[in-house]
Amino acid sequence: MTEKYCIAVDMGGTNTRAALINSYGEVLTKIKEHTGTDPLATLNKLIGNLYSDNAAKVYGIGLAVAGIIDSDNGIVLWSPHIQKLKDVNLKTEIEKSFKTSVVIENDANAAAYGEKWAGTGKDYKNFVVLTLGTGIGGGIIIDNKLLPVAAEVGHMSINSGGAQCACGNIGCLELYASARAIIGNAVSALEKGDNSILKDFYNGNFYKITAEDIYKTALDGDMLARAVLREAGKNLGIGIANIINILSPDAVILTGGLVGAWNIYVEPAIQEASKRAFNELYARVKIIPSSLGDDAGVIGAAALIFKTPKTVK
Ligand SMILES: [Zn+2]
Repeated sequence: MTEKYCIAVDMGGTNTRAALINSYGEVLTKIKEHTGTDPLATLNKLIGNLYSDNAAKVYGIGLAVAGIIDSDNGIVLWSPHIQKLKDVNLKTEIEKSFKTSVVIENDANAAAYGEKWAGTGKDYKNFVVLTLGTGIGGGIIIDNKLLPVAAEVGHMSINSGGAQCACGNIGCLELYASARAIIGNAVSALEKGDNSILKDFYNGNFYKITAEDIYKTALDGDMLARAVLREAGKNLGIGIANIINILSPDAVILTGGLVGAWNIYVEPAIQEASKRAFNELYARVKIIPSSLGDDAGVIGAAALIFKTPKTVK
């Protein structure tokens, strides 16, 4: 029997990753582009690249997209960081270009699905996945099944007098704990003249710094970078405590680039969660990184194809 592949895409506010993945959850090829100002063109380019050499073996295309998704109809209802996709029927658009079926889901829901299929989540019956990137997303597995809800944990308010979020709420978690928040706080401190080696990045144009620049600088001991990450981590811990108190999961699994800064960003989050969550619930939860690393998003998108046969033609 010919091996079946799927093309899996993880589209976030900053980067879009695409991969060719087999039915065992193994990543065969992966490519990445900036999501850019024309997300549909980025999608077509990345998928086209993988599809052209493997068309006969491609069983389906799984799309994991940050935002509120009508997965039954394949529509992006709203994506805070990819606004051009508002009300776009991505399923129809992509099926037009590539002659195979397309499944679309919220990126964090897909990540939770991928964790259950091929990642750390295999060992847990009830868990929450947090995707820590430009924004913060959540996916919930209860009794080994994906809870079909929005799970927009990044938009729980942690500050009643806080900043206005693009979603309409005030003081949302992701305004204080995401990569975008970390960059924003670092840039504000640099504008005020705080000392840090980050001010020399990009020939002094520190507005270009990335979250990765900040955590690598923090690992090298830069005090400003460390302070910004620790503060964001502490705020993340408030969100995690709320999740523990509401859902009492067996595990909270963390994915996304920021997990690389575990000691400086996640440790303060764990500390804060331990102070705030119910002791009895905190005692039985594990706060752990995804074993899928950078591939968590695309494995989740692949799980949409290989684990949901009813939606595949
Ligand atoms: Zn919000």
